[in-house]
Amino acid sequence: MDLITSLQEITKLSHLYYSRQWMFATAGNLSTRDNQTHNQFWITASGKHKGELKDSDFVCVSTLDGSLVQANDGLKPSAETSIHQVLYSQMPDVGSCLHVHTIDSNLLEFGVGKEEGCKEIPLPPIEIIKAFGIWDEKPNLTMPVFYNHTHVPTIANEIKRYFQNHGIPKVPFLLIEGHGPTVWGKTIAEANKHLEAVHFLLQVMARRI
Ligand SMILES: [Zn+2]
Repeated sequence: MDLITSLQEITKLSHLYYSRQWMFATAGNLSTRDNQTHNQFWITASGKHKGELKDSDFVCVSTLDGSLVQANDGLKPSAETSIHQVLYSQMPDVGSCLHVHTIDSNLLEFGVGKEEGCKEIPLPPIEIIKAFGIWDEKPNLTMPVFYNHTHVPTIANEIKRYFQNHGIPKVPFLLIEGHGPTVWGKTIAEANKHLEAVHFLLQVMARRI
């Protein structure tokens, strides 16, 4: 898929997620890897209303060090760009990362400590897990849940350390407690499928509390 089509696809998802109440106001951030250069990605610009996002409201960032490569008219990268940068740099086959703030993900409380940084939380072995490409009957899975530091690069560093120490999670997502999920996929379509499945899973977990 060429870059323009990818940015149009992401823009459509932004409007869809806004209508689903996953990206109220300027919340959340969506990105796609630049397939031509591979070591760059395009992410929604900071402060843009996600229900009114345009396909020009993106900035280009390096996957190698998170530096700004290109931005139109003084646009700034999303505040959470460092998290996307870590995910692209740790997983070379990932083509898209999507981060939203859903109500159900914010209802879940796991008590992750500030010093602890990350906790592995068991997932219910329900049918929707198959959407992640995991076909085991009653799989014994966990998801990494991170502390919501105000300083976002601290969260990004903790995610990087987790990946380096534990490897890539079996499930294609992570959760920041009291904040929201971030998913990834090889393509925008796959990342979108993962996000819908994560939303369903977290909704089930929130209703079981
Ligand atoms: Zn966020």
